[in-house]
This record gives sequence, structure tokens and C-alpha cells, in this order.
Amino acid sequence: MRRKLVAGNWKMNGDRASLVELEEIARAAGEHGGVDVAVAVPFTLIERAASFVPTLAIGAQDIHPNDSGAHTGDISAAQVREAGARFVIVGHSERRGDHGETSHDAWAKAAAGHRHGLQVILCCGETEAERDAGRAERVVQAQVEKSLPDDADGGWLTLAYEPRWAIGTGRTPTLDEIAAIHCIARAKMRHMIGDKADGVRILYGGSVTGDNAGTILAVPDVDGALVGGASLTAAKFMPIIAAA
Ligand code: PGA
Repeated sequence: MRRKLVAGNWKMNGDRASLVELEEIARAAGEHGGVDVAVAVPFTLIERAASFVPTLAIGAQDIHPNDSGAHTGDISAAQVREAGARFVIVGHSERRGDHGETSHDAWAKAAAGHRHGLQVILCCGETEAERDAGRAERVVQAQVEKSLPDDADGGWLTLAYEPRWAIGTGRTPTLDEIAAIHCIARAKMRHMIGDKADGVRILYGGSVTGDNAGTILAVPDVDGALVGGASLTAAKFMPIIAAA
């Protein structure tokens, strides 16, 4: 049985004053002991958040694939780990869109995170044009094929399916569409890493709210949620934790 994971992604939001939200979120996580709860904060808040709410898993939203070197403006897995991050998100569609990152980059970043003892949330998901063209399943299969490390297992890796057109838009796929993608993503992982795929959690992400979390989290093969906007305040995030 895979434990459910509800992970927040604050993106480029939040300052020291928002750390009080994490305190509330940590309290809710404590009350719902059967669910794993995590929040990826901006780099500047990792160290403070990790010491402010030691019970909550604090993570980073990106890392460089290399361990060190001449990469101005980048940050390594070891650096975020030292700051207190326990996990990292890689391959998010905003990294792909804003910075031209590829599935191969996500693969290298996932490997770097694992090398330095981070849990990794590896993102995939189709664009609206790809879905409209009937290519969503093939796109996700190809992304998983190119980004899943050979040594992946549920001990350190989580997959997140986030259709790009559902992120921050208030639109979500139907439950059947979510189920279909999660099913093919798991089949693809099974083909690549065998039985270990059964231990890998697959999160759904894209406009998850307290209102739709219950039904989405009940879909077969949905092992949790990756939540952007609704993770910014405890008031919005807590109902999603409760639904899991
Ligand atoms: P959203 O973002 O919940 O605001 O749609 C999800 C994500 O990008 O992880």
C-alpha cells in the first residue's frame, strides 16, 4: 500500500511572514498521521522553514544537475540539502516552459537529488495542444521514458502528473482522464523498472483545491496531490490534507 502524499509548491511566492502558514500546515499534518505532507518553498526560505517547522518535510523547487561549479545563479542538491531540504521537485512544466528544460534535464536533476539524499518529485504532463491532438498519453509516456532514472524506486522517487493546461487555471481533466494517464504512467514505469514501479507514488497536480481533492484523490492510482495556489495558505491547504 502506498501512503498518500500531499505536497505544496509555493513557486515564487512567500516571505518570512508566510512561515506562520507552515506552522498551521504542520499542525494539520500532525492530526492526519496517515498522510505524508510536504511543502516546496523558495530557496530563500528553506533554512528558516526547516528549523521553524522541523516536523514538516520542506523541499526545493529545482536544483542544478551538477554537484558544484561555474553555474551562476544555480543551486546544487547538496546546497539545498544542507539548508534543510528533504526533497526537490524536478521537471516542473514552469521550468520546462520558462527555462527550456527537457525530460533529459529532469532525469539528470532527479539523479543529482538522489545522489545527495533528497526525495525527488519528478513532473510530467502534456500541453493543451497535445491533449487536443489526442497525444496526451504518448507525451506522458515519452516524458517518463526519458526522465525516469534506472534505479528509481518508491523509496526516493515520486512521479507527478500535471497537465500544463490545468496548472493555475481552475480547469482539471475528468476523473477518467486522470485515471487513464496514471495507469499508462505506471505501466511505463513497470516496463522500465519492473516491480519497483508498484512502490512509486503518482501524484496528480493542476488546480487541486479543497473542493475537488476528495474526488481526485479517490481515483485509482492517484497517490496524492501536488498543489500550487491552494498550498499558499493553511486555510486552503488543510482541507486537501484532510481529504487525503
Ligand atoms: P496549481 O499548481 O495547483 O496552482 O494549479 C500546481 C503546480 O504547478 O504544481
